Parts: sequence; structure tokens; C-alpha cells
Amino acid sequence: MSASNSQYSTIEQIDEIYARVAQTWKSGVTRPLDYRRRQLLQLARMIQENKTLWEDAVLADLGKHRQECASTELGPTVHGALHAAENLEDWARPEKPKVDSWRQNWDATVYPVPKGTALLISPWNFPIVLTLLPLVGAIAAGCPVVIKPSELTPTVSALLARMIEQYLDPNAYVVIQGAIPETTKLLELRWAHILYTGSGRVGRLVAAAAAKHVTPVTLELGGKSPVIIAPDADLDLAARRVLFGKVQNSGQLCVTPDYVLVPTAIASDFKAAMLKAYASFFPINPLDAESQWSKIVNHAQYQRLMNLILTTKGTVIAGGVGDFRRRIATTIVSDVGLDDPLMEEELFGPILPIVEVEDVDAAISVVADRHSPLALYVFSNDETVKQKCLDRTNSGSLIFNDTVWQIVVHEMPFGGIGESGYGSYFSKNTFDVFTHRRSYCNMPAELEPFIGHRYPPYTDDSYKI
Ligand code: NAD
Repeated sequence: MSASNSQYSTIEQIDEIYARVAQTWKSGVTRPLDYRRRQLLQLARMIQENKTLWEDAVLADLGKHRQECASTELGPTVHGALHAAENLEDWARPEKPKVDSWRQNWDATVYPVPKGTALLISPWNFPIVLTLLPLVGAIAAGCPVVIKPSELTPTVSALLARMIEQYLDPNAYVVIQGAIPETTKLLELRWAHILYTGSGRVGRLVAAAAAKHVTPVTLELGGKSPVIIAPDADLDLAARRVLFGKVQNSGQLCVTPDYVLVPTAIASDFKAAMLKAYASFFPINPLDAESQWSKIVNHAQYQRLMNLILTTKGTVIAGGVGDFRRRIATTIVSDVGLDDPLMEEELFGPILPIVEVEDVDAAISVVADRHSPLALYVFSNDETVKQKCLDRTNSGSLIFNDTVWQIVVHEMPFGGIGESGYGSYFSKNTFDVFTHRRSYCNMPAELEPFIGHRYPPYTDDSYKI
């Protein structure tokens, strides 16, 4: 880890920051819509005015190409902030539920109100967008926020701390840099909501800590997201789109295709299509300095992935090599068995196992027998296949004929099920995460003659149903 520990907050500083942000919440300053809108616009400016700085930071930590950083980290963040600023009025508008006529003068109203001070814990793989999109929703909802970015992307985390202090209200939105001890300290405190993005292992610790304070939690976790190739699929298209999903951030993406299930009858055609797509994506030597692939986040992860390549019983048909800059050429492995080491944990790297199965039913059965993934990708235009996948499997999202790009549809909730997490966010859904729908009535005194029968003493025939 290259972060200087001097940038980490001490336990005393965490207590001081917590008290300061709690005071801000109490003061009510984060509630007015004008304040929220100003902060959202500032957040968009914070990205737009410093595009190169953000790209440099991501390049330093993850070696990610500027184009990939702009399209997957910066663009969606700016869009998310502006979209929230534009729709704030609508999202925060009190609702009048339909009530029976005899309750119509009770003024029944549901007010979307901020829950209170929130904690965001974010991962390293998309260190900007996975920190700032949750923040956008919390600001829109009117919540102050303490943010704990990942210690594994220290340059981005330091930039987040500096920029958020400079552009946003420093009494309401604060970054705490640190690793496990600092996160553990944060988790001991009482929060109105915790949104955690990361591994299931840490997700369990977060949920257990939150339970002590009855704090609601959103867990955005990972898992092995499968791809099913049906016999009717356009194999060239499928190959390009599967490979696209795998090369984004070198497979260090929560919705990256983890493995492919392909019926034996079309397996060799699919492998040929994958190799064709591979050659067109990467016309130069994969480990060339000019190569545009993100590096693996740290040495431990690099070693884990290279060990998997060494120990698989499958056949490496593309890639299979790494270098001293922690880059691993996207690696396609065919003839992988369900008991292969590659099929155990989420790969979270540039390795794509291809597993042959008898037919689509067998593929569905493999998916249904495992933990519910964050995403399931199916390549088919056959309505029967589509319906079977809908009916017989479960996953955070189900996408036909592409990978990863479901995340571009911000209007849909993004989240997992089962081991891939619970709760969801994106766009208004993120506003909802940090919002309590508070029921309100104002009972008129004139009701007395009509409700007198509710008071004791009770009589046997006082209540008609
Ligand atoms: P991680 O769980 O290791 O770390 C995430 C955060 O938890 C970091 O801020 C870290 O400081 C903190 N943390 C780590 N260990 C801790 C401990 N023992 N106690 C308290 N806090 C601790 O996750 P990661 O490795 O950064 O991310 C990879 C995982 O996240 C993958 O499984 C991936 O699929 C998943 N992920 C999910 C999404 C999603 O939106 N669902 C997005 C990105 C990543």
C-alpha cells in the first residue's frame, strides 16, 4: 500500500468529525432544496473543472486509460449529479395518498425526509463513481455524509478528500481516509444509514456492526456473474460483447462476466468467435507498454490471479501472461470444468473461463444451483429461452444480448440479491435509499362527534365490522 498513513484520520479526529457532522445535521442546514441543489451542482463542477486531475489519479492507482476513466467514472458522476439537481423538486415532493372519503379532512401526507447522517464505504475498483453516485443520492435526500474511500486507491482517495473539502460544505460532507482500524471505528458509531460497496466478507462485518444500532444498510456486493450462450445466438456479436465486459478495468468490475456456459454443439464456433474478437480488440502484443488495459490493483491480487491461471485444469487459448507492471493480458480459458479452481470464488480480474454444458437447460441449472449473482447475461433471441431464464434463475439483473451496459440505464435500480447484496440504488433509487417516507396527519377537532365510539367504556355492540 502506498498511502502515507499520515493522511489517515486518527481515532480522535474521527470522533471530532462525527460530532461536527452530527451538529450540522441537527442544525437543519442540509435540508432546504436550494442547499441540496447547490451542493449537487458543485459536485458536478468538482469533476468538470478538474478532469485531468481525476484522470491522472485513476491512472496512478489503476493504470486506467483516460477514455475509460472519462466514460465510466467521470461522465456518469457528472450526469448523476446534474440529473439529481434537475429532478430534486419532483423527488422530494410530498405525496398525498388516496384515502377513503371519511378521512379526507385529516390531511394525510407522506413527506420524503432525510434519514440523517449517513456513512458511505466504497471500494477501489471504480473509486470515483462508486463513491460519488451514492454521495449524490445522499445530498439530494438532504443527509450529511461521512465517506470512507478505499485505502487501495490512495491517490484517488486523497483527491476525493481534498476536492470534497474544497467544493462542498466541509461541515456536512467529509472524507475519512484510512484502512481497517479507521473503518472499524466508523462502524462502531451510530449512523442513520450505511451504504457499503465491496466484498461479501466485509459486507457481513458491516451488517453485523449496523445491527447493533438497528441501522439500515445497503450492501452492494459482488459474485460470479455468468453468461449463457444459446444455440440461436449471433456468436460474433456475443463474443465481442462478452469480451468488452471482461476488459473493462481488466475485469475488476462487479458486473463483469465471470464465466461463460456454452452448449457443446456450438462450443468450438464460440471459441473461434472469441479469438476473432480478441484479435480485433488487441492488435498489439498484450503486454506492450502502449496496451490500454488497466493494471491489477495490488501485488496480492496480481499474484492471486496469476496463480489461478497456473492452477486451472482448462486450456489457456488467449493471454495467460502478466508483467512487472501488474498487467495481465485478458486470458480466455476453454474446457473448464465446474470443479475447476476458476469456478470457486468471484474472479474479479481478466480471466474468462468457458464451461461446456449439454444445452441451455443444463446452463440454467448450473446458474440456479449457485449463489444468486449480481448479473446474469444471456445471448439469445429465442423467446422460450428468455422466459426460462426469467422463470428459473435469480440475479440482481438479467440482461439479454449484452454485458455490463445495464448500468447505463440509470432509471433502473442497481443492486444484488442473496449473496450479491441487498438494497439498490441509481438515480431516484439512491435518493430513496437515504430518505424516510414520513407519514403525517393533522386530525381536526370537529371529528369528535364521529369518532366518539372509539372511547371506553366499551359495550358489546359498540363496534360494527
Ligand atoms: P473490500 O470489501 O475489501 O473493501 C471495501 C471497503 O471496505 C474499503 O473501504 C475497505 O477499507 C473496507 N474494509 C476492508 N476490510 C475491512 C474490514 N476488515 N473491516 C472493515 N472495513 C474493511 O472490497 P474490495 O476488494 O474493495 O471490492 C471488491 C469486491 O466488491 C468484489 O466482490 C466486487 O464484486 C464488489 N463490488 C461490488 C460493487 C457493486 O456495486 N455491487 C461494485 C464494486 C465492487
